[in-house]
Amino acid sequence: MSADIIEHCDGYKTLEAAIARDGEKYGDPERYNPKLGWAVARAKHYAEKTGLRATDILNSWESKRNYWYMNYYQDCQQPEIKGDDVRVFDTPDALHDSIGKTGFRCPMCESISKSPYVCDSGKEMEKGKVCDWKSYGLFGTMGKGVYVFVKSALRGESIFKPISWEKS
Ligand SMILES: [Zn+2]
Repeated sequence: MSADIIEHCDGYKTLEAAIARDGEKYGDPERYNPKLGWAVARAKHYAEKTGLRATDILNSWESKRNYWYMNYYQDCQQPEIKGDDVRVFDTPDALHDSIGKTGFRCPMCESISKSPYVCDSGKEMEKGKVCDWKSYGLFGTMGKGVYVFVKSALRGESIFKPISWEKS
């Protein structure tokens, strides 16, 4: 099916064009060009692991991209799907069922947060300052979070680790 040729999809074309513009503008195209191959390979990896089409995945990534591709396409943003800390779900409901209602472990204060994105544990880190660590901040989840990908939404993100996923 021609629709499955990744070089023909809109996501590929927009990323390719963005990379070509930078190559012309700044010179040194060798710095930018490999990102295209990386994104394609990673989209194919996601396709293989999820049963989705690589074209749909790359289109989705590009349509949601709102900053520079050099920072957007990285292992921490689109991690390989392997191990216990990168998990795939069919729907948001399936994700929520798996998480349950026991909250999330904040990577900074290690208390329990009700939000998977912004610590609301109320733990005081220093006098008058409670923890408000953010999963989407500069240091993310500091390697202590999880990455969840929802197939029906073609969307993945890093969140604090659900308490229900912690091993005793
Ligand atoms: Zn915290």
